[in-house]
Order: sequence, then structure tokens, then C-alpha cells
Amino acid sequence: MFVDAHTHHFVSNYSTVELLRKEGYTAVYILAYIPVKPLYHTTLVDLFRWLVEVEPMRFKELGIKVCVGVGIHPRNIPHFGLAQLLESMEEFVARADFIGEVGLEVGSVEEVEVLSEMLRLAERLDKPLIIHTPRREKELILKKLRDVLESSSIQLDRVVVDHASYELIEEFIELGTFIGLTVQPGKLSVNQLINLVVKHPELIELGMVNSDCGRDPSDPLAVKLSYEGLVKADINVSGALKLVRDNALRFTGLK
Ligand SMILES: [Zn+2]
Repeated sequence: MFVDAHTHHFVSNYSTVELLRKEGYTAVYILAYIPVKPLYHTTLVDLFRWLVEVEPMRFKELGIKVCVGVGIHPRNIPHFGLAQLLESMEEFVARADFIGEVGLEVGSVEEVEVLSEMLRLAERLDKPLIIHTPRREKELILKKLRDVLESSSIQLDRVVVDHASYELIEEFIELGTFIGLTVQPGKLSVNQLINLVVKHPELIELGMVNSDCGRDPSDPLAVKLSYEGLVKADINVSGALKLVRDNALRFTGLK
């Protein structure tokens, strides 16, 4: 029933995965990210192997489908070996379902170059792509991101720009991409999500609710709780399901 379109569940324990199944989750999207800047590019190579080769099996045992993303998060650009990492990306992207998590954190020249390379790879290998936006300086970074997207020829319906904020929702909608609506402490609350959907009904076609659940505080059931809140607030069931399932499936082509 539910699809969580942005998680880092590879660090979640087995009980959490069992809980997801019990509560009606049919698919989760797992994105590459580690909380330290890697010294060497091979750290990320092993992370990608973990995600692509091992993690889907753990979820399959419990009947949950996994969509795996690989990519270079702006906080994960390695100190050494970026060129080699970029060379090996093609192999892993080809084996993954999408590219992510990629994006801009402070908007440095290096970050823009890495993101542009990820966009080129997405186009070349025909993979969708999930873009992170930071908590700090979101407005400024969003402008930079818009420039990067405009200088790329990627189709906008192949892109999610994630972690939309309550205050900047109009700027997010103007991008013309799918919009990630992360319900998590420090990002959106369920009430803010409901208000956004009521004020901007176009989000029903563009929004993807997610938990960003991983090592930071987050409710693994945020997508389900959002659905229940939306329906209680009189958003019709088919609209609410687009936000918590159908838009995510449309984005990856998962059936
Ligand atoms: Zn994330």
C-alpha cells in the first residue's frame, strides 16, 4: 500500500523492516549516503556494492520491494580519488534503479561539477534522479540548483528535488520537477504537509512523501501517518495515494 520514496534503511535493523511490512509498506527507496566525508573513493564503491548486491535481498525476504539509488551526495565527495569514483559510477548506476542521493549542500564549484556529472549519467543511462537540498541557505542553493538543471538537458519528470520546505514551496513548484516532501523532525510535520497540499493542490500530482529514515531522528512510519492525516483532513483517497505511493511508482516505473 505505501511507498517510502526516500530512506536510508540500509542502516535500519531487521525489526524496523518487519514493522514496515506489518504496517502495509510495499516498497521503499534506499539512497546512498554516509555521515562522514570519505577519505578514499573505495569507501563509496563498497557502499554501492552493499546497496546494489545485498540490501534488496534482506527486504525481499519480508516481501518489500526495494528501489536502490547510487550517487555521490555532496557531503560524500571523497578527499582522494574523485576521478576514479566518477569512472566507476557508470557500472553502479547501470545496476541501480535510480541515481541518488545527489545534490548541493554549500553549492561549491566541486559540488556543481559532481552534480552535473550525475545529471549527464542519468540522461545517458536513462535513470531517474533524486536531488537533495540542504537545511541551511535553502533559498540560495535552490537558485543554484535551478541554474544547474537549466544547463542540463534532462527531462524534468525524471527528477525529484527533495526536502521541500514549508516556506519555499512555491520556488520548489516552479522548478517543474517532482517534489520530495520529507516528513521528519526539522523538515515538514504532518500538519504542515496537509496545509501545503490544501494550499497547493498541484502537489497531489508532483509530491512524494518520504521519511528520510536512516540514522537521524525520523519515524519509519511517517508516510503512513501522513496518509492517515491527509485522509482525515478530507483530501480524497486517490489524491492521498498519489502522494504516498503512485507518484513514486510513476517516477521509477515500478509496478
Ligand atoms: Zn536522505
